Amino acid sequence: MTTNIPELFGSNVFNDAAMKEHLPKDVYKQLKKTIEAGEALNVDMANAVAHAMKDWAVEKGCTHYTHWFQPMTGITAEKHDSFISPVGGGSIIMEFSGKELIKGEPDASSFPNGGLRATFEARGYTAWDPTSYAFIKDKCLCIPTAFFSYSGEALDKKTPLLRSMDVLNKQAMRILKVFGNDDGVRRVFTTMGPEQEYFLIDRELFKKRPDLVYTGRTLFGAAAPKGQEMDDHYFGAIKPHVQEFMSDLNEELWKVGILAKTEHNEVAPAQHELAPVFETTNIATDHNQLTMEIMKRTAQKHGMELLLHEKPFAGVNGSGKHNNWSMATDTGVNLLEPGETPAENAQFLLFLVATIKAVAKYQELIRVSVASAGNDHRLGANEAPPAIVSIFLGDELTAILDAIKNDKEYEGHEKTVIKLGSTVLPKFPIDTTDRNRTSPFAFTGNKFELRSVGSTASIAGPNTAINAAVAEVLEDFADRLEKAADVNEELTIIIKETLNEYGNIIFNGNGYDDSWVEEAKKRGLANLKTLVDAMPSYLDEKCVNLFTKYGVYTKSEMESRYDIKLETYWKTLNIEALTMVDMVKHGITAAVIDAENELSEVLTKKKTLGFDVEGTMEYNLLDNISKDATCMAKRLSSLEDALLKVADIEGTYEIAKGYKEIVIPAMNELRLVVDELETLVPEKFWPYPSYGALLYSVV
Ligand code: ADP
Ligand code: MG
Repeated sequence: MTTNIPELFGSNVFNDAAMKEHLPKDVYKQLKKTIEAGEALNVDMANAVAHAMKDWAVEKGCTHYTHWFQPMTGITAEKHDSFISPVGGGSIIMEFSGKELIKGEPDASSFPNGGLRATFEARGYTAWDPTSYAFIKDKCLCIPTAFFSYSGEALDKKTPLLRSMDVLNKQAMRILKVFGNDDGVRRVFTTMGPEQEYFLIDRELFKKRPDLVYTGRTLFGAAAPKGQEMDDHYFGAIKPHVQEFMSDLNEELWKVGILAKTEHNEVAPAQHELAPVFETTNIATDHNQLTMEIMKRTAQKHGMELLLHEKPFAGVNGSGKHNNWSMATDTGVNLLEPGETPAENAQFLLFLVATIKAVAKYQELIRVSVASAGNDHRLGANEAPPAIVSIFLGDELTAILDAIKNDKEYEGHEKTVIKLGSTVLPKFPIDTTDRNRTSPFAFTGNKFELRSVGSTASIAGPNTAINAAVAEVLEDFADRLEKAADVNEELTIIIKETLNEYGNIIFNGNGYDDSWVEEAKKRGLANLKTLVDAMPSYLDEKCVNLFTKYGVYTKSEMESRYDIKLETYWKTLNIEALTMVDMVKHGITAAVIDAENELSEVLTKKKTLGFDVEGTMEYNLLDNISKDATCMAKRLSSLEDALLKVADIEGTYEIAKGYKEIVIPAMNELRLVVDELETLVPEKFWPYPSYGALLYSVV
C-alpha cells in the first residue's frame, strides 16, 4: 500500500499537471485558455488532447473510455467503448479521436426524459465539460459530460447547474464592480462541500433482506432493544472493520482527485459521515456522485453493504447530505466571509441579505428541490430539519442586522452604531461549533448550509435552485446600486427593505419544537410536508419565470423534471409496496405458520397428557399470534386493494397523490402488525435478520 498521499492524490485524474506533462506546450496553453474562457475546443486541439489523454490512460492500464453523465435518474450513467480500432490483417491499434472526446451519442431512449424526447428521436448527445477533469475508474477513462437532446434540451442534472452558475457569476460580478472589489477578478463561482451520511451493515445480512435489496430501506423490522438513545455512537471510536473500509475508501477517492477530509460516526448505530473539502459546485457535484458510487463498491470489497437511503431504519435517524454553499471569486475571496474593512463588510452584508431574500422568496422551490420519497421520511420527523424552510443566522449576526434595520446601536461586546461604508462590522464570535441541526438553512460563519438534502440525492438540483434565486436578487440589487448616488445609503435601504419584507424567514430557535410549526404558520412560511404537497409550487409562475428568464431551464425542461420527480416518487412507493406484499406472502406467512404449528403441537401434547391448556403461556402466545396473523392477512389485502385503486388513476400528479393518500397508509398499517408479529414469532422461524443484527453487525 502506498503511503505517499500527495503522489497518490489525483494519480487517476487527467488534471492540470497531467495535461502539462502530456500535451504539447502550445496545445496545453491554448486548452487552458479555452477552458477558462468557457469556449468550445476546435478540432485540432480536441484531437491533440484526445491523443494525449488516450496515451496517458492506456499507460495506466485503460482499455475503454466512456462519456460519464448524470441523467435525470439522479445517478450516473456510462457506456463503455474500447479504444481498439482495426488496421487490417487482424491487427488493431488503440485510438481515440477529438470527435470522440468532445461529443458522444449514446442511444439513450431508456433514460427518463419526462416527454422531452420521443423514443423515435432516441438520440441524446453528451458533450465534454472540460472544467471537470477526465479520470480513470476500473480501467476505463471517464469523461465528465453534459447530456442533452437533439433539440438542445438538457436531459441531465449538470447542464442546468452550469447554466445557473453562469447566471450567478454575471450578477455577482456586477456587485463586485459596484464595491470596487472586482480588480483582477474574472469569475465568481459557487462553492460546495457536501457532507455525506450513510449506514454500513454486513453484506451477508443485507442479502437476506429483500426490502434492502429492492428498495434500499427496511420496510419491516421491530425496533432493537437499543437504538441511539445513549448518544454513544456519535463521534465515537470508529470500529476496526469500519476504519479499514474508510482508509481504503480515502485512497480510492484521493486517486480520482476527491478531497475526502473528515470521517466520523453519526448519531444512529451503524451510521457514518464523510465530508470532503469544498470545491467549485459543478466539480463538487461530479465528485459527490462519484463518491457515492465508490463508497458502495469499496464497502462491498470489505464485506459490507453501504446504505445511502434517507431512511434505512425506522426509529433511528436517517441520512442526509449537508450542502455547504458559498460564492467565491477566482482570486480566492469567499463572498460570504465577513471582511476586515468597511467596504468588505458592506459587500458581505449585501451578499448575505441577497441570500436571505432568495431563500425566503423561493422557499417553496428550495423545498421542492430536496423532495423525494425517501426524504419524506426525514423532513419534519424530528431528526432532520423540518419541511418548513427557515434561516439560522445566530444571535450575533441577527442582532447586527436588527441594529441596521432599526437604526439602533448594536450591543455586542461594545456598543456601536453600524454605518455601512464607514464602520467595520463589530467582530461577532462565529459559533463554529454551531450544532443547531434543526435549521434547514444555517449560516455557519462563512457559508450557508442547506441541511435538508437527502443522502441519495444529486446536489445539482438544490444548487441550481439556490444559484438562480440568488442571481435574481443580485440582479435587482445591482440595478439599484449601479444607479445610486450613494452606494452605502442605497445598501442600507436595501438591507432594511429586505429584512422588513423577508426577515420572517430568520429563525434561530429549535426547529423540532411543535411551537415552531405554529409560529411559522403565523409568519406565513410554507410548510410543505411531503413531495406531493410541494410539487405544484414548482410550476408556479414565480418559479417558471425565475428559471426561464435566465435560461436555466426552459418551460418544457421544467415540465419534464416535474413529471420525472412525481413518477420517480410513485414508482418508488410501488416497488416498496410490492416488496412488502412479496415479503409477507413468501416469507412472513410461512414463519407465522411455523410458529403456530410448533405451539399447536405443544398444546395438543399437553392436552393429551391431561393438562388444562387454556390460559397457559403457549395458549396465549398462540392466541396472540393467530389474532395478529388474521389482522396481517386483512391488511395485506387492503394494501393489494390500494395498489389496484391507484392503478386506475390517471395523471402523474394524481397518481403520486394516490400513492401518498391510499398506498402509504396501507403500508404503514401492514408494517405495524408485522413488526408486532416479529416480536412474537421465535427468531428461528423469522425469515429476515432483525434490526439488532443489522445495526450491530459490523464490528
Ligand atoms: P461542520 O459543518 O461539521 O462544522 P466545517 O464547517 O468544517 O464542518 O465544514 C463542513 C463542510 O463545509 C466541509 O465539506 C467544508 O469543506 C465545507 N466548506 C467550508 N467552507 C466552505 C465554503 N466557503 N464553501 C462551501 N463549502 C465550504
Ligand atoms: Mg455541517
